[in-house]
Amino acid sequence: MAWEKYKYIYLGLLFAFILSSGLSFYWMTNLQPQNKPKISVLKQPTEEVFKVTEETKVILLKKNLVCEKYQLKCSVKETEMTVEEKNGIRGLNLEELQKKYAKENKTIEKSKDIINIISWENGLCSDHKKIWHLGDNNNGDYVAVYYGPSEVKNEGGIYKVTEIPVSKLPLQYQEKVRKHAMEFTQEEELIATLDSFSEYFGQ
Ligand SMILES: [Zn+2]
Repeated sequence: MAWEKYKYIYLGLLFAFILSSGLSFYWMTNLQPQNKPKISVLKQPTEEVFKVTEETKVILLKKNLVCEKYQLKCSVKETEMTVEEKNGIRGLNLEELQKKYAKENKTIEKSKDIINIISWENGLCSDHKKIWHLGDNNNGDYVAVYYGPSEVKNEGGIYKVTEIPVSKLPLQYQEKVRKHAMEFTQEEELIATLDSFSEYFGQ
């Protein structure tokens, strides 16, 4: 009796089951291959497929944080990684490279097939350390000599604090000193200027 009563429902359910299985099978087999190329095109921009090979040019360079911050033009020393050195990083992608070198405080830049590995040092580069400028010392009392061009102010480090009180200088020089506006590329010039300053307070 029950079969008679519900057979259309059972048959209906069975039909729905067969239909849905058939559709799923159709989607699995027919639609996936069509979708696949689209997905892989989207998921493979050049950055992700990049890996270091023997052909990759790997350049090692040093940069200084203060020079970079003030965008000073430094003569950057570059060396190219040798084939042997490259063995240690062959096959790594960009992300793996970044991870590996982040531990050593190095950053990675990539352009086309060239990788730059930049090691960062504090302060100024050796060239910009050969430029000096005057400023006042921490408490503003004495003339101090700072490393680097004027714009880096005290960030390049202090070379020395003189015994020349800023307040003893003519006003125009006081202002220049406080503004870190007197720059020297020759040590002799610096020494001569400090000597001339000494005269203002009788030394
Ligand atoms: Zn520099």
